Amino acid sequence: MNEFIPSVDFIIELVTIRRQFHRYPELAYQEFETTKTIATCLNSWGLNLSPFKNLQTGGFCDVGKGPIIAFRADIDALPITENPDHLIKSENPGIMHACGHDYHITFGLAILKYFHLNQANLKHTIRVIFQPAEEAYPTGAVKVCSENIWQNIRYFVTAHMQNDLPVGTIAFCPGIANASSSSIEITLIGRGGHTSRPHETDDLVLHTANFISDLTTFLKSKINPFDSYTLVFGSLQGGTTHNVIPERITLKGTLRTLSEEVYKQILKLIADFCQSFEKSFHVKILLENPTYCPPVINDQKLGRKLKDFFSTYYPEKLVLLSTPSLGADDFAFYLTKAPGIYLKVGGEGKGIAHSSDFEINEASFAEGIAHLINFIAFLDTETR
Ligand SMILES: [Zn+2]
Ligand SMILES: [Zn+2]
Repeated sequence: MNEFIPSVDFIIELVTIRRQFHRYPELAYQEFETTKTIATCLNSWGLNLSPFKNLQTGGFCDVGKGPIIAFRADIDALPITENPDHLIKSENPGIMHACGHDYHITFGLAILKYFHLNQANLKHTIRVIFQPAEEAYPTGAVKVCSENIWQNIRYFVTAHMQNDLPVGTIAFCPGIANASSSSIEITLIGRGGHTSRPHETDDLVLHTANFISDLTTFLKSKINPFDSYTLVFGSLQGGTTHNVIPERITLKGTLRTLSEEVYKQILKLIADFCQSFEKSFHVKILLENPTYCPPVINDQKLGRKLKDFFSTYYPEKLVLLSTPSLGADDFAFYLTKAPGIYLKVGGEGKGIAHSSDFEINEASFAEGIAHLINFIAFLDTETR
C-alpha cells in the first residue's frame, strides 16, 4: 500500500479550517456562510463546488474519472449555546457544532485536496457530498437524494466523530449500525372547563398522564423482547393556567427501531391503542407520523473489505462494535441508492454529543483523516 501520512503543514491547514467552521456554525438549511467557506477552500485548490438544484446550501465536488466513490459530509450545527470555557468556541449566539459536523466538513475537504493532488492513478471519481440539514426534519438527505447525481455510484462512505472512542481508532458495526427514527405526534382533544368541576369536562391532563403510562405498558406486552425499540416523548404541550382544564394536549416523541418491520408493527399498535383509548374515555385522538428515517445498514461486502484492510495494515486501530446505536442518521437514505459504510472516528473528547460541553480532541484529526483517505484509496484500487 502507498500509505498516506499527513504532513504537519497539511494538518495545520485542516485544523485552521476546522476551527473556522466551529466558530461560525449555522443551523439546518441556513448553512450559507459554511457553503461559501467550503467553496473558497476548494477554489484555492483549483476545485469547484457544484450547487444542488433543490437546495440553497451545500453542494458536491468531484475529483478523478470513472465509477464514483462518494463520501458524505454533513454540514449543519445545532441550536445549543456552547460552554463559554471552550478554547475554540462558537461566535454565533445560540448555535453550536455539538455533533462534530465541523470535523466532517473538513474531512470532506481533506479527501478532495488529497485526491486532487494525487489523481494520476485514480481508477474512480472521488465525490464529496456536503449535505445540509442532517439534524433537521425534513432531513437534508431526502432532498439531496432527489438530485440527479446518483448514476455510476459504486460505494458510499461516511464518518462520524465519536467522543467515546480513543484517538486513532476507527469503528464500525457490522450489519445494522443505526436505528430508524420516526417522529410521532399525538393530540388528545376533549371538553375543557373549570378545574372546580372536572366531572363536566374530559379532564385531559389526567387522561394524558394515563395515556403515556398505559401505552408504554401496552407496547411492552405486545412486542417481542428481542425486537429493540424506544418510544420516548420529548414534548408535552397543553393548557394555559392552573385553573383551566385544556381542550387539547399534544405529545411529540420519537420512535426508534432496528428494522422497518418492527417500526410498522409498533405504528399499527399505537394506532390500535389510540382507537381503544378513544372508545374507553370518549376523547378524540389524532395520531400523526410526519417523518421516517430508515435504519443505517452497513453493506456486508464493504464491511469485510474494511475489516480486511484494517486488520492487514492497522490491526490495533479497528474497533468492531457489537451493538448498533439507537441514534439515527439520514445517511440511511443514501444506502437506498448504493451500498455504503458508516464509520466512527475516535475523538476522545469531553461532553456528550448534542450538549454544550461537547468538545472533540483535536489530536484525533491527523489519524482520523489518514484512516479515511487510506481506506478510500484502498477501495479505489478495486477494479470490477
Ligand atoms: Zn447530531
Ligand atoms: Zn452528527
